[in-house]
Amino acid sequence: MMSSSLQAPVTYLKGVGPNRADLLKSELGIHTYQDLLQLFPNRYIDKTRYYKISELQRTPAEVQIVGKITHIELIKQKKGSRLVASFIDETGSMELVWFRSQKWIRENLKLNTPYVIFGRTNWFNGKFSMPHPEMELWEEHKQGVRIAMQPIYPSTEKLSNKGVTNRVISKCIQQLFMETGSKFPETLPPYLCDELRLLPKSEALYNIHFPKNQEFLARAEFRLKFEELFYIQLQLLTKKISRKKKIKGFPFEQVGTYFNEFYEHHLPFELTKAQKRVLKEIRADLGSQAQMNRLLQGDVGSGKTIVALMSMLLAMDNGYQACMMAPTEILAIQHYQSLKSLLGSMDVNVSLLTGSVKKKDRTQIHQDLESGKLHILVGTHAVLEEKVVFQNLGLAIIDEQHRFGVAQRSKMWHKNVIPPHILVMTATPIPRTLAMSLYGDLDISVIDELPPGRKPVKTVHRYDQNRLKVFRFIRDEIRKGRQVYVVYPLIKESEALDYKDLMDGYESISRDFPMPDYQISIVHGRMKAEDKDYEMQRFVKGETQIMVATTVIEVGVNIPNASVMIIESAERFGLSQLHQLRGRVGRGAEQSYCILITGSKLSNDAQTRIQTMVRTNDGFEIAEVDLRLRGPGDLMGTQQSGVLNLRIADVVRDRDILKTARFYAQAVLREDPELKLEKNRAVKATYARLKAHKEIWNYIS
Ligand code: ADP
Ligand code: MG
Repeated sequence: MMSSSLQAPVTYLKGVGPNRADLLKSELGIHTYQDLLQLFPNRYIDKTRYYKISELQRTPAEVQIVGKITHIELIKQKKGSRLVASFIDETGSMELVWFRSQKWIRENLKLNTPYVIFGRTNWFNGKFSMPHPEMELWEEHKQGVRIAMQPIYPSTEKLSNKGVTNRVISKCIQQLFMETGSKFPETLPPYLCDELRLLPKSEALYNIHFPKNQEFLARAEFRLKFEELFYIQLQLLTKKISRKKKIKGFPFEQVGTYFNEFYEHHLPFELTKAQKRVLKEIRADLGSQAQMNRLLQGDVGSGKTIVALMSMLLAMDNGYQACMMAPTEILAIQHYQSLKSLLGSMDVNVSLLTGSVKKKDRTQIHQDLESGKLHILVGTHAVLEEKVVFQNLGLAIIDEQHRFGVAQRSKMWHKNVIPPHILVMTATPIPRTLAMSLYGDLDISVIDELPPGRKPVKTVHRYDQNRLKVFRFIRDEIRKGRQVYVVYPLIKESEALDYKDLMDGYESISRDFPMPDYQISIVHGRMKAEDKDYEMQRFVKGETQIMVATTVIEVGVNIPNASVMIIESAERFGLSQLHQLRGRVGRGAEQSYCILITGSKLSNDAQTRIQTMVRTNDGFEIAEVDLRLRGPGDLMGTQQSGVLNLRIADVVRDRDILKTARFYAQAVLREDPELKLEKNRAVKATYARLKAHKEIWNYIS
């Protein structure tokens, strides 16, 4: 069959009338033969076995039984009714039960006729029953295709209520294979199939629906997952190549006095190997003719700020301005101060622009930006406002990108005719291969090394009841001159309750740590920006020893003297949040501690999160656990990436296949960037078809 006829509407298929077609469309998005062919099973049930009723076990199980219905009866209940059938075989009897579609079932079931039933058994009141079994007449069953492993397809309640059961879908797909002679165009070139020992496309499709055995199923899965990921990678890489060709960037050809002066006279420490490597990668990008679009990943505390600063100095050396955007005001202020202090006496004009900058100062900033007097602008979203016009913005750095989402990137873009170079920094590390598939159009740099002399933060888990002991520990640390964070959760849905928790906590801490011996700062979302700031500054200056806060301090705050992080209700935080919070301590030379306080009842996931935090400080390892617990769909900022709509592959579970797919996609494009070679004909045709039918999702905003 030609691929074009796979575009035929499913109504052409025998057994699919307009009603079923409509249901398939609305419930599963299936319009064409092709769509149906690509409705892959969620799982498979081994149906090689028929059970006897006497063999059933009391623990629920999915079983297949041959027998007859002897009696059928509608029983009224308080709410609605249930239809109950007595079902027997030669070893015993059980009940079949329906709560829905009763009329249809009653009219269609035949009494005293052999059926094969399939479903999940229940043991209740001394009797086995099976709700909503799948049923097939034994006569038909015998003649049907023998399927060793029964595919279970995605379904919806509406579908099964309207009689489009798993069996119906399976039959439709069998019909499709019959009509098409089970022949489908090959979509990968022979040399790839050979090299990777891939099943041919037709065989893979057959075995994904009707596997001969486990081995064929595994090979079919591999083939189809590889193919899916291969074409996505091909698309991402193609986009990247064309971006590099088409989008001209400002060439930052020289390293000049700003950079050199800083490097020779102001660098406060030796850069780590990782920082040097990343700077080199950035310099190579900036020096090329193309626009940089780079993601810089680095665990909390790995030293991204100085890399950002030195990149901005390069922009200045080439006569351009730079800006740095942060997701919160506190963080923007922090960056501003870090940059100022790193620059010291250097003649560089840096300004801070946030929502709370006064009109007069704001106007001045606008003027200085346009005249070119201002070299570096640090700020929040405020930087993106229309009125903010640079004379010549050459480099935009976006910190902690998960807070912004991908859309923001393009906003920076439109400020110039030629887009500035863009560096996105994130402290939420995600595994590299995953990063490549989520941010496939970006280049990626990783700072995978912490500055020397850091003592890993010691993390412990304590229960609520032991809070007094924790307080004693805090007292000891404060006596040694340290400072302490106490963090409370803040979750939108229960803001009022959280606020109460925070205030209760603040009161109890104020009681245990009374003035004047102790001074306490408090920062939370309901405060005015200037009050927040004031409290924050008191803590920064060491005037207060304890900072009680919600997660507003989560990102980026750098106070080396703070050595204890207490996290209240730690079970309510996600892993990456816990890791970010912990990253606020361990920034000085002293041993630091993170204490996770929880209630005594923990869900399995919460337990895993806490144990992971106690076990490791490695952000990448934590990210992996996080992914396993939540799936990539929850990764901050990735929801809109579209990568989650994969048909068969799973970027987390199938990471190895993803790597292989990327490797081969790169190899193909390296040798044949425009897919002109005869041997890549299948690739070219398939890629064109996928694009035409929008089957590859658009990843790039
Ligand atoms: P993050 O990657 O979390 O943004 P920062 O840039 O805030 O990390 O750096 C964390 C701390 O480490 C800062 O106090 C910074 O001065 C310090 N630091 C960064 N790089 C080095 C280095 N190479 N050697 C020593 N200290 C460093
Ligand atoms: Mg930072």
